[in-house]
Amino acid sequence: MWHSEHLETNTIHGGKDGQGQHGPLSTPIYQTSTFVFDDVQQGASRFAGEAGGHIYSRLGNPTVDELEARMALLEGTEAAAAFGSGMGAVSAVVLGLLKQGDHLVTSHRLYGCTFALFNHQLPAFGIEVSFVDLADEAAVRAAIKPNTKVIYGETPINPCLSVADLDMLAGIAKAHGITTVIDNTFMSPVLQKPAKHGIDIVLHSATKFLNGHGDVVAGILCGPKDLIDQIKMTTRKDMGAIISPHDAWLIIRGLKTLHLRVERHCENALRVADYLQSHPLVKKVDYPGLPGHPGYKLLGKQMKAGGGVLAFELKASFDQAVTFMNALKMCKRAVSLGDAETLIQHPASMTHSTYTPEELSEAGIPQTLIRLAPGLEHVDDIIADIEQALGAAAKQATQAA
Ligand SMILES: *Cc1c(COP(=O)(O)O)cnc(C)c1O
Repeated sequence: MWHSEHLETNTIHGGKDGQGQHGPLSTPIYQTSTFVFDDVQQGASRFAGEAGGHIYSRLGNPTVDELEARMALLEGTEAAAAFGSGMGAVSAVVLGLLKQGDHLVTSHRLYGCTFALFNHQLPAFGIEVSFVDLADEAAVRAAIKPNTKVIYGETPINPCLSVADLDMLAGIAKAHGITTVIDNTFMSPVLQKPAKHGIDIVLHSATKFLNGHGDVVAGILCGPKDLIDQIKMTTRKDMGAIISPHDAWLIIRGLKTLHLRVERHCENALRVADYLQSHPLVKKVDYPGLPGHPGYKLLGKQMKAGGGVLAFELKASFDQAVTFMNALKMCKRAVSLGDAETLIQHPASMTHSTYTPEELSEAGIPQTLIRLAPGLEHVDDIIADIEQALGAAAKQATQAA
């Protein structure tokens, strides 16, 4: 299988297995549910795992294989497994690695549905879960028990973009024979390669930067061949969160521009963060690319740049935050990230709207926190839209006074 030393080349050519029949430039979409055996013996040897070749698309598909080979190369792991959603990947990895009586150490802040899975579903299966601050080495060490099997984290983490030290987590885990899983969705392999720091399994919601065009929901796990094979042959095969060949193809297409897109997302995010910092209606900006952010010290060490997501808190009321959101003309009110369009959401009225004001403050989510994922538009247009919407929110305050 072909590969280069350079990520920019591998996003386009990496993991390709020859020209394929007819020599198509674009990867063929093998839109098929099943594969035909020449004879019983061939079918039998494929089922026995003695011969290569496909059986059924829930077990594997050539279009999906190419996506997996490319992602393994990009993350620097032996293998990868693609899923029908990021949450399909999260559930397959934790249910594949943990059983009743095992213990999971994870972050006190997580992607919302990952938190729901860990906080509600896993305990229902008799799996014990501890939620700690993964940026705090002493807290991580104190949480380890004899039955701890997995440490699962995200970095940077919603909503304040706090950053966990990957070398530290991998070091603690290795000393105790614990498997580590890191959700690398916010960074992509362009900015951060957790496996290089000793992390075992790297997870992505491919819905975000990897695809990058807002038209697919998908997930990926990258890791050592034995663990990935184990997950493919247990939780992915038997629980069935498989990706469709067409969706795999859309991500293969998206990956071709990943490095260019992520670079521009970072440039735009830094410019917007800088602008917001100096605005009188903005109380605080959370972006690891800004020198004041606690995660900034890991820039250059484990992450190349601050990424394409930032959060900011308004010096305003909840109603003014709503006015700001509604006044936006170009930026899209939507809960995703890593797309060409600038996406913006207000956690207190959207992703975290079921939280009471007390629960919000406990989770460190101010009423006026806004999460912004700058897109690929000209940065002046993004800033101009935010500026006019902040103006509308400020005017509301003057009127109320
Ligand atoms: C979106 C997201 C997920 C879930 O992925 P889906 O593709 O929506 O299932 C998991 N982790 C992070 C950090 C995400 O942003």
